[in-house]
Amino acid sequence: MSLNAPASAIDPKTVEDAAALLRAGQLCAFPTETVYGLGADATDSDAVLSIYEAKGRPRFNPLIIHCSDLAMAETLAEFSPLARTLAKAFWPGPLTLVLPKRTGVALSDITTAGLSSVALRVPAHPLALELIAVVGKPLAAPSANPSGRLSPTSASQVRLGFAGRVPVLDGGPCSAGVESTIISVAGDTLTQLRAGALSREEIEALVGQQVLDPAKDAAITAPGMLLSHYAPNALIRLNADAANPGEAMLGFGKVSGTINLSPSGDLHEAARNLFAMLNQLDETGIRAIAVAPIPLDGLGEAINDRLERAAAPRG
Ligand code: AMP
Ligand code: MG
Repeated sequence: MSLNAPASAIDPKTVEDAAALLRAGQLCAFPTETVYGLGADATDSDAVLSIYEAKGRPRFNPLIIHCSDLAMAETLAEFSPLARTLAKAFWPGPLTLVLPKRTGVALSDITTAGLSSVALRVPAHPLALELIAVVGKPLAAPSANPSGRLSPTSASQVRLGFAGRVPVLDGGPCSAGVESTIISVAGDTLTQLRAGALSREEIEALVGQQVLDPAKDAAITAPGMLLSHYAPNALIRLNADAANPGEAMLGFGKVSGTINLSPSGDLHEAARNLFAMLNQLDETGIRAIAVAPIPLDGLGEAINDRLERAAAPRG
């Protein structure tokens, strides 16, 4: 359970109460038209890490970032004319757009899992829209359930799932009850990364072009077009006790390195530093990075999962 979540949460009674929690770097579940989201300030790495801790999520998936309107979304991503057409037609609504991230935005790299793209949506729920506007920041929010359990469509399901330890802004039952449709917009190509509450047909009817399916359409061959995973340029060697010649070393705890994810062996600190430090070493142009062993408990599972993906043979 999250370090940032109290043993027994007091639910916010108003949007202002919920916004105060989120502004203070805490979690708060909130209603959307699809399912309840477990929200955190998307610009605050520690807050976003609390989402992983609370859900017990074994992977750093990039999270969907919820905005109050198109103007907020445009501060975070590059909108092509095609992307803007989709946003104007279907927002607020159950459509998530995966777009190129703007450079220099304040988003936490935990929110985007180190990727150069972002997944954005404007939810069609008055409380969600008001909450994001009052917080004044984009909110990262996966479904408000422990990892591996069903997505909650009411506040009481959220309370049950987290045994009352996560505060919930109650907005009644969700109208859609299934997740948002995720569409990646890359140049002129639209690809459906997840089927959801908005049908492919509705999207195709609006834009007059086919929405590709990664599972079926052989046309999608370019690597990196799909759910690309963060990978540094340098080769990664895991569970190393020391650097070999030509390697930089990413340390953890007592295993020291060129830099250290957390000299005190704190997994939350290590997770917060993971992408930034890998990038820092990668940007030196080094050919290989050795990484100290990271224990598998708590956030360690997600850190190891991400490192294993970064170390996997490249296609
Ligand atoms: P959840 O957080 O459970 O609602 O799931 C969010 C979904 O959005 C996951 O399937 C992610 O892989 C996907 N997603 C989020 N950001 C990106 C991105 N930048 N590129 C591709 N997929 C993304
Ligand atoms: Mg989910």
